[in-house]
Amino acid sequence: MRKKIIAGNWKMNKTVAEAVALVEGLKIDLADCMDVEVVVCPPFTALKTVSDKLENTQIKLGSQNMSSEDDGAYTGEISHTMLKELFVKYVILGHSERREYYKETDFWVNKKVKKALEKNLRPIVCVGEKLEDREAGNTEKVVEEQVRGSLADITAAQFENVVVAYEPVWAIGTGKTATSEQAQEVHKFIRSIIADMVGQKAADGLRIQYGGSMKAANAKELLSQPDIDGGLIGGAALDARSFIDIVKAGM
Ligand code: PEP
Repeated sequence: MRKKIIAGNWKMNKTVAEAVALVEGLKIDLADCMDVEVVVCPPFTALKTVSDKLENTQIKLGSQNMSSEDDGAYTGEISHTMLKELFVKYVILGHSERREYYKETDFWVNKKVKKALEKNLRPIVCVGEKLEDREAGNTEKVVEEQVRGSLADITAAQFENVVVAYEPVWAIGTGKTATSEQAQEVHKFIRSIIADMVGQKAADGLRIQYGGSMKAANAKELLSQPDIDGGLIGGAALDARSFIDIVKAGM
């Protein structure tokens, strides 16, 4: 039985004061939530404050990126040590915005995934096709390449600490959600690739989140699909009520 995991990716939103207001709002309903694993991923500048606010709650902290290096001359980067010092547990890696705007390739995502696992951080590894890929009938080809590339050389045992997020790029921030059938089909496909890579047992234990305009109104149907084990939420995670309602849809 895979425990559902709902993560909020706040992206480049929320000042420290706004982050405090949001996390206080979330705590009212979710501080003791055990049925679903809840993760919030604020911008780096708010991690410390949010971490303090999450003390003694069930809500976990995630970051939106992490360097593949340990320390040193890497201007603008954040290391695993810095994140762990703030009690960060999850790191989003290979988000489509990182791939698209900052040219992160599967090679770099894979380096970061390996570093995260080596340092006991749990990667949320994002994959997903663009609209032109889907229209050309290349969804499976593109997703398979990203899965195999981003997760190369990860062992079956390490997969216990990995979460994959399937995020069709055409559904992110657009208001267009994949239908539950479309999403289920790709989730099932991803699980079959993982089974081929590291075996059925690891694949069966892997949690695969859906991301792309998930909101309270469509969450229940998406989350009731057999291979959809949670959500990675962008826009709807910026408002406490809408995020709480999505988490409740996963209970
Ligand atoms: C995301 O960027 O991970 C995401 C799913 O965004 P949104 O929910 O806004 O589509």
